Amino acid sequence: MRIDVVSIFPEYLAPLELSLIGKARQDGLLDLRVHDLRDFTTDKHRSVDDTPYGGGAGMVMKPEPWAQALAAVAAAASVAGAGEAAGGAGAMAAEPAKPVLIVPSPAGERFNQALAHELAEEDRLVFACGRYEGIDERVIEWAEEHFTVRPMSLGDYVLNGGEVAVLAMVEAIGRLLPGVVGNPDSLVEESHSDGLLEYPVYTKPASWRDRDVPAVLLSGNHGKIAQWRRHEQYRRTAERRPDLLEAFDAGKLPRADRTAF
Ligand code: SAM
Repeated sequence: MRIDVVSIFPEYLAPLELSLIGKARQDGLLDLRVHDLRDFTTDKHRSVDDTPYGGGAGMVMKPEPWAQALAAVAAAASVAGAGEAAGGAGAMAAEPAKPVLIVPSPAGERFNQALAHELAEEDRLVFACGRYEGIDERVIEWAEEHFTVRPMSLGDYVLNGGEVAVLAMVEAIGRLLPGVVGNPDSLVEESHSDGLLEYPVYTKPASWRDRDVPAVLLSGNHGKIAQWRRHEQYRRTAERRPDLLEAFDAGKLPRADRTAF
């Protein structure tokens, strides 16, 4: 997968050089490039914002630097896409798929694990980090010509800029790419993988500060452990996120797991 991020604070994305995502980049599993929006300005002050039409507080990001930056990224995407689409000798030249442009915004679709899985299937993602009061709306309309545009929110609160949202989304998407997480089984039993939160986890010692690990986990009885975990998932979800239970369908679980409900 290739990911391009456009921001006026490219240094903000430095944590994506660390840990599993950093290693995935080093190993060639993820090609992630960060671009400075100011490199696409033409005035001597490298300005990217201006006052809002209609008045009001704050500044709005100007359309032209965004159009220049996104056009450059789209061109790079179509070159790479054309190479991939051409395949071997004699292959039909297919129209490369449009890259997905994710525009972080508190007014976007709420990002979640299902979307992380969906986006992990894409070849090309582009993130446009807004600042101030956001990006001139005409950029979003214009970008539809070159991208599949998806405004996305990290949650129902307001951040200062899109960079923190991009860090979260890239980590959630990147860890689903093949080979990024060493043991793929650890992705299966996580919170949100089946619509429920994960069960509580414990490690050694079995007794710590007068608190014991639940006895069933020491029993060696795998059936009982699985049943306890399912029950704990349900209990924890009901307690912390009852909204998730409304959408949860126990009928979709493997038959053996359904007895826990
Ligand atoms: N005036 C905008 C509004 O009320 O919708 C908020 C602008 S916010 C101060 C600046 C930028 O931060 C946004 O353009 C967006 O890129 C990012 N941002 C803020 N909150 C976000 C959230 N919950 N999810 C994703 N991005 C967010």
